[in-house]
Amino acid sequence: MTGPRLGAHMSIAGGIHKAIDRGLDVGCDTIQIFNKSNNQWHAKGLSDEDIDRFKKAKDESGIDPVVCHDSYLINLASPEEGPLKKSREAFLVEMQRCEALGIPFLVMHPGSHLGTGVDAGLERIAASFDWLYERTENFKLTVLLETTAGQGTNLGFKFEQLRAIIDQTKEGERLGVCLDTCHVFAAGYDISNSDGYDRTWKEFDSIIGLDRLKAIHLNDSKKDLASRVDRHNHIGKGKLGLEAFRLLMNDERLQHVPMILETPKGDDYAEDKENLAILRGLIGL
Ligand code: MN
Ligand code: MN
Ligand code: ZN
Repeated sequence: MTGPRLGAHMSIAGGIHKAIDRGLDVGCDTIQIFNKSNNQWHAKGLSDEDIDRFKKAKDESGIDPVVCHDSYLINLASPEEGPLKKSREAFLVEMQRCEALGIPFLVMHPGSHLGTGVDAGLERIAASFDWLYERTENFKLTVLLETTAGQGTNLGFKFEQLRAIIDQTKEGERLGVCLDTCHVFAAGYDISNSDGYDRTWKEFDSIIGLDRLKAIHLNDSKKDLASRVDRHNHIGKGKLGLEAFRLLMNDERLQHVPMILETPKGDDYAEDKENLAILRGLIGL
């Protein structure tokens, strides 16, 4: 078994194409990026040169796929008209940027209901996707709903909630899913041992369908099972432990799914190199 394609989230400081160089330097087979500054609403337009440089760097690198993650400011479940409109427009720009760059997947956090209740929040997310899909008719891009830890009023911490969004969206067949190992554990899915791991994937397959799974975020968790708190830790150093990652690296059903680290790191990316070495060391064990 050669194992799945592995990588890490990479900075786009200095230009989107720079993320490819950083990924190569660390030894990634795949990377995740933000396609604009993740804590600002405004995005500077992409020039043809930006797009060409990125595509050329990507093609030469062998890194594939490049996955994008949306800005943390966007809330497609917002109950307030102004912020909801702003979020939809910003997410539309993110979708357009991904499409222009030839990026196949845009991972997103479904949204926060902000005290208005789970069902109302899920309905607004689906209505937001109806709004977005009307405006992006022939896009190749697939938006991936990320499983969340369920912190605060965040939605997406139960597989049933992702299923509800898919069902309530008119073009729900266009949606995929990204599973985050830290988030599902914090949400109460115990993937730290083989029994819980098997149960979780069985549930995932029956509620969402394994064919919808297009990416996995590999993060250990600083917080306990069902804590509903989202704090990433290095692989094998948190409450999840190495066994969860050994099971993932050797799961035949998941060999085609890109798996990406979102763990803390310094300027030299030494932690990414170490985490990738640990993961690769688990293949075949
Ligand atoms: Mn995320
Ligand atoms: Mn994640
Ligand atoms: Zn997280």
